Amino acid sequence: MNSLAQRIARMIRADGPISIAAFMTIALHDRKAGFYATRESIGARGAFITAPEISQIFGELLGLWCAQVWCDQGAPPSARLVDLGPGRGVLMTDALRGLRRAPEFLAATEIVLVEASPALEGLQRERLRDSPAPICWVRQWTDVQQDRPLFLVANEFLDALAIRQFVMTERGWCERMITTDEQDRLTFALAPMPTSLQPPPQRGAAYRGAVYETSSAAEALVEDIAGAIVQYGGAALLVDYGHEGGAFGETLQAVSGHERADILGLPGQADLSAHVDFAALAHAAGRAGARVCGPLGQGAFLRALGIGARAEKLSAANPHRKEEIAKAVERLTEEMGELFKVIAITPVHAPRPPGF
Ligand code: SAH
Repeated sequence: MNSLAQRIARMIRADGPISIAAFMTIALHDRKAGFYATRESIGARGAFITAPEISQIFGELLGLWCAQVWCDQGAPPSARLVDLGPGRGVLMTDALRGLRRAPEFLAATEIVLVEASPALEGLQRERLRDSPAPICWVRQWTDVQQDRPLFLVANEFLDALAIRQFVMTERGWCERMITTDEQDRLTFALAPMPTSLQPPPQRGAAYRGAVYETSSAAEALVEDIAGAIVQYGGAALLVDYGHEGGAFGETLQAVSGHERADILGLPGQADLSAHVDFAALAHAAGRAGARVCGPLGQGAFLRALGIGARAEKLSAANPHRKEEIAKAVERLTEEMGELFKVIAITPVHAPRPPGF
C-alpha cells in the first residue's frame, strides 16, 4: 500500500465507503500524490502514450481541422481555440505548426489550455514557449470564458473523467463502492441498497452480474460544451477510445509503465481511465440542441483528413525517418483505428465538418 492508499483507507474508516468516482478523483488529482500531479505521467517514459506522442501529424491535422471549420462557418473575426487536457502540450505544439498555413485563423483566435495539474501546466508552458499566438491557462472547463465561437479539441481527456459502476443484483442495480478489508487494504464492495437507476434501453436486457458504467461528469461536460457551441458557433472534436453504448460491461482500468495494473493497488502511481460511451455523449450534446457527427473510427477520420499525403511529404523532407513515419501512421490508423473514435459537435445548421 502506498501512502495515498493509506490516506484513502483512513478516510473510508472515518466516513464510510466511497464511490469509484470519488476514488478516481483522488487517485488522479490529489494535489500531492495524484497521478496527474507528477510530470511524468504521459509519454514514452510515463504510464501511456497518446496519439500526438506517436506522430506530429495528428496534432497538425487537428489544428487544420479547426481552421477549416472556422472558415466554413464564415471566418468569424474572433474565436477561441481550446485544448481540454493538453497533457505534455504536444498536440497544441503540432496544431500550431499546422496552423502556420492558416494565419488568418490564428490572428482571430485566443488559445486556452484547460489543465487541472499545475505540474503538467508547467510542462506545457515550457514546450509552448515559442508559440506564435498568445496562450492562457485555466484549471477547468468552467473557467473558460464563453463569449465567442469555440473551437475545442479533446484527445484522451474524457476517458480520465470519473465514472461510477452499478451491478445488477437480485435487489436491483447496486453501486460498486470502495471500502477496506480486515487488513485495511482497499477493496470493492456493493452498496446494500439498490438505486432507481434506468440504463438506456440500447444496452440491452440487464442480467444478474451485468455492470453498467456511466460518467455523469463526461455527460455534463459535453452538454455544456455543446450548449456553448449552439450559442456562439464553432465546433468540438472529441477523440477517445470507447464504445457506442450497445452492451453492459466494465472498462475501468489502471495502467502503469505501459502495463495493466491493479485498479486499487497503487492510487496515484497508475493512470485510471474508462472507455468513453459515445452514445451517451451524443445524447448529451443533443440535449443542448447541437448536432453530432460520428462516431467515426480514428483511422477513417485521419485518412479522410489526408494523413497519407502529409506522411509522404514529411518522409520526402526527412528520408532517414521514412520508416518511422510509416510505422506511426499505421499505429494511428490501424492499431488505434477502430477502438479510438471521433465525434464532432457543431451547431445544427453549420456545414458538415471535414472528415465526416
Ligand atoms: N490530450 C493529451 C493528454 C491526455 S491525458 C494527449 O493527447 O496527449 C489527460 C489530460 O487531461 C492531462 O493533461 C490531465 O492532467 C488533464 N485532466 C484530467 N482531468 C482533468 C480535469 N478534470 N480538468 C482539466 N484537466 C484534466
